[in-house]
Amino acid sequence: MSDLLSRMRGIEDADVAGKRVLVRADLNVPMKDGQVTDTTRLDRVVPTIRSLSERGAKVVIITHFGRPGGEKVPEMTLAPVAARLGGLLGKPVRFVADCIGPVAAEGVNAMSDGDVAMLENLRFYPGETKNDPEFVKQLAENGDVFVSDAFSTSHRAHASTEGLGHHMPPFAGPLMMAEITALASSLDNPQRPVAAIVGGAKVSTKITVLTNLTKKVDVLIIGGGMANTFLYAQGKAVGKSLCEPDFKETALEILTAAEASGCKIMLPDDVVVADEFKANAANQVVPADAVPESSMILDAGPESVKALEAELENCRTLIWNGPLGAFEMEPFGRATFALAAKAAELTKAGKLITVGGGGDTVAALNIAGVSDDFTYISTAGGAFLEWMEGKELPGVMVLAQY
Ligand code: AMP
Repeated sequence: MSDLLSRMRGIEDADVAGKRVLVRADLNVPMKDGQVTDTTRLDRVVPTIRSLSERGAKVVIITHFGRPGGEKVPEMTLAPVAARLGGLLGKPVRFVADCIGPVAAEGVNAMSDGDVAMLENLRFYPGETKNDPEFVKQLAENGDVFVSDAFSTSHRAHASTEGLGHHMPPFAGPLMMAEITALASSLDNPQRPVAAIVGGAKVSTKITVLTNLTKKVDVLIIGGGMANTFLYAQGKAVGKSLCEPDFKETALEILTAAEASGCKIMLPDDVVVADEFKANAANQVVPADAVPESSMILDAGPESVKALEAELENCRTLIWNGPLGAFEMEPFGRATFALAAKAAELTKAGKLITVGGGGDTVAALNIAGVSDDFTYISTAGGAFLEWMEGKELPGVMVLAQY
């Protein structure tokens, strides 16, 4: 991706004055009763829109909302999102009630230089997710320049994330640039030693991530429920813990691959166990090879945390996806929060580059109160994981073609 970066152009390189600039944003915001309940995604894209508008572009925002399944679902209209964005931008955002056809053309043709408009939900048409060439052509009729600022949707080859880039000059928006810069510098061309934490519930959902990382990182820290499957594969009893016995061989293959490529794997030496999966369940710390039959592992233990903290001291880069325990339930977030605090402290001291991503991870880092101290936090769930898997993201690749 680092090489990609040099082949991508940012919006500062685009000639936008008087042009219709189609900006693909991710404004799939949380809504309740027709009201936007969290404006984070809107806040983040405001500077992109403002900059283009101030440079005399006709800024035409395109985005999806929810999963209307290719049909016009009135409850999934973007009208309230446009109104809210206008409030944050401090200038009206004209809502255009269709994203293709005569209504879209009329709305865009009525714009003056510097105006901002938002077209209706792209996913009201099946051609969006199918990347249907005819739909792409219709979308392209309302733009001269394409700006993609939606990294979180870039793992999907959709009409608005990939198709459009072949019809007009594509540029990466500032959010896209920031994301790719952070990702490229942490995994593709990192300062070493580089460590990755992969936690969360199940091995089965992250096999490709684990396999790819053994080839790329110096230390792979496996935590959360998926560590149980590895402990089980090593012949340890895991009691009632979340475990996937069918993935025993996969876990062993990953351990072998890691050894072959000189990647150090870290699994918990001690664990916090409880008999019930609930907040404040009676719990105790036991060695990882002495889990009682009636108990389940819900967090890494204090000795494990100490070992991980010491390891981070020696690292220069950390990539983090997935919690070390069932952090949503007190007190089983302790290991996750303690390590997050350590990572933040090392980042603030300039000793560690920290990149975290994925929904649960962002939530855990927020609870730990360290989000602002990490070098970069990616809110992109699927795209972040696919990047960790080493996949090429079509919505990024298309930006590097010129
Ligand atoms: P993921 O979506 O794969 O990142 O998984 C995140 C979820 O894994 C969180 O909801 C955690 O509560 C859960 N989790 C982490 N550790 C454990 C564990 N030891 N047992 C059960 N669930 C866990």
